[in-house]
Amino acid sequence: MSGLLAGKTALITGSERGIGKSIALAMARAGARVAAHGLAAPLEADALVRELEQAGSPAAAYFGADLRHVAEIDKLMSDVSAWARPSVLVNNAGIQHTDPIESIAVRSWDDILAVNLSAAFHTMRHVLPQMAREGFGRVINIASVHGLVGSVQKSPYVAAKFGLVGLSKVAALEYAAAGTAESGGVTVNCICPGWVDTALVAPQVADRRTRLGVSTEEAIEAMLAEKQPSRRLSSPDEIARLAVFLCDRDAHNITGTAIPVDGGWTAQ
Ligand code: NAD
Repeated sequence: MSGLLAGKTALITGSERGIGKSIALAMARAGARVAAHGLAAPLEADALVRELEQAGSPAAAYFGADLRHVAEIDKLMSDVSAWARPSVLVNNAGIQHTDPIESIAVRSWDDILAVNLSAAFHTMRHVLPQMAREGFGRVINIASVHGLVGSVQKSPYVAAKFGLVGLSKVAALEYAAAGTAESGGVTVNCICPGWVDTALVAPQVADRRTRLGVSTEEAIEAMLAEKQPSRRLSSPDEIARLAVFLCDRDAHNITGTAIPVDGGWTAQ
């Protein structure tokens, strides 16, 4: 897919590591200018920008912003647009915390809803009108299987991800008629991964390790056996390749979807 995004700018939130970094690198390999974002320290941010340029991005830049705060999101979006107007937006940043409803901290609820759901609303409202004017735009929201089914002890995460799936459908409908098949149109989709091998799931692996008194490998196997019938983790690169595919002009009629990448989890 090299050259697929030549001349385009992609903003990927939470791209200093994990799935977001893989998506940023894949967009760089596809020729996009990449606006990376996250909570990285300056040296880490500089290294990321170099890595993106080495991967093939004609220009990359890093923007910091804490997505729990609307004012920081507004500043992020105006700083990115002043650098280069994004025609691809990937709302990837996300946080997780597991606890039953009766004991989850109110602060955790607020933070998870802010980062995993509200931030996507705020970034989208900034970029969608411009995408419509240009006749091309791609919004890819990294939701989760937890946007399609529930699991115990994940109330804020599941609520936020279901909300993100719903929000994405509304945005897809509002912009469905923008552009043409030739220009590529404006699409809004969710990718809904099951277990992916990143730092986000590390606390859940550690919890099983302690609870079951097993190795890390055995804890991961137990997690997969419980939910993911393929019994295989996804890699961040696999999610990234799907994100790049959704940016193809030929994907102009794929909109309003929530695509599971979950080894059969939500087929059960
Ligand atoms: P990760 O923890 O490796 O990365 C999360 C990213 O979000 C980081 O770059 C971090 O800086 C950013 N972030 C967190 N809080 C932020 C804040 N307040 N402001 C700005 N940025 C913030 O996690 P990951 O596994 O790569 O997750 C990426 C996305 O994929 C998340 O939305 C997550 O919910 C989703 N997801 C992950 C899995 C999985 O198994 N790993 C499964 C389904 C969905």
